[in-house]
Amino acid sequence: MCTFAKMKSLVDILETTNSLDGDQLAALLTTRDTDVVDYLHRRARTVAQMHYGTGIYVRGLIELTNICRNDCLYCGIRRSNTHVERYSLTTDQVMACCEHGYRLGFRTFVLQGGEWGDERAGWIADIVAEMRHRWPDCAITLSLGEHSREVYALWRDSGADRYLLRHETHNAAHYAQLHPAEMSRGHRLQCLRWLQELGYQVGTGIMVGSPWQTVDHLVEDLQFIASFRPAMVGLGPFIAQHDTPLGHHPNGTIDMTTRLYSIMRLMLPGALIPSTTALATLAPEGRLQGILAGANVVMPNLSPGEIRAQYALYDGKAHSGSEAAEGLRQLEAQLATIGYHIDWSRGDCRF
Ligand code: SAM
Repeated sequence: MCTFAKMKSLVDILETTNSLDGDQLAALLTTRDTDVVDYLHRRARTVAQMHYGTGIYVRGLIELTNICRNDCLYCGIRRSNTHVERYSLTTDQVMACCEHGYRLGFRTFVLQGGEWGDERAGWIADIVAEMRHRWPDCAITLSLGEHSREVYALWRDSGADRYLLRHETHNAAHYAQLHPAEMSRGHRLQCLRWLQELGYQVGTGIMVGSPWQTVDHLVEDLQFIASFRPAMVGLGPFIAQHDTPLGHHPNGTIDMTTRLYSIMRLMLPGALIPSTTALATLAPEGRLQGILAGANVVMPNLSPGEIRAQYALYDGKAHSGSEAAEGLRQLEAQLATIGYHIDWSRGDCRF
């Protein structure tokens, strides 16, 4: 069999069985045959459409705070970065974001932020409870890092439906290269298990092209995600932030990120896969390329305009135009150029 036929058959096996062995996954991640990559994207797109049609879910992202107790080596809001002006939204500001978002049509709100100690957990619970009371038809997603099981339970009882916590890398040695010694991969994975046990729809994922990441690491990540079966898979390219210790490393690529979207779509056909802001930051058409590779969610920014520049996880982060909530019409027009449209429903996972 010629190489193209062999590689194409790997895509077909992945689609039919939702799995491949490590060497086969590595072959798809590294092939230079653009016809194979096109075929991979095409099959992933078809599978995404079988589950979700040509509707793209939107989530209103509210960047709650850039204050963080952690010191992840890649992240612009790490606690050691003294160049960041720190902020935390007030309860009233969060409610105003939701009110604005609800009027625009959003039915999912995502509260994301740096990680605080559990002493602020009650305040978050109050915010969630008020959101649940005022917008009972909306999904509430939290992305606030690692906490105790009790805190996750409190937030769940207050009305949170979903939780996003990327594992960042499943490989222990790689995790240790990207994080200070006080952070533990084991605890992050434990948090993911607690969240699932508590009935959250859980999202996990990685940065693509993070420093020292190898193809073997990516294969390990894919296999972990497939076995964990999250409702959502968040994959975005690593982008250097100049004030961090990893600020001189090269960025991840659109090519590798979109291959991973497609492979993930074929491994977990009903998963929610956002075409991430980081992808849109690398190139203006990055968001659409993500959708054409099988992604089915975008997360426009609902944060107040004046704080957006301060939530600078990486250099050049997109936060205006179709990336921002105000740019929804522009987003709708962009989606229409590839035959897609915004789906305004809550957008729960279909498996
Ligand atoms: N504190 C929460 C947590 O740890 O999950 C949520 C906020 S954290 C800033 C959100 C995500 O940003 C991380 O999971 C990480 O993957 C991503 N991120 C941070 N720095 C990045 C960088 N330089 N390039 C791309 N993504 C980055």
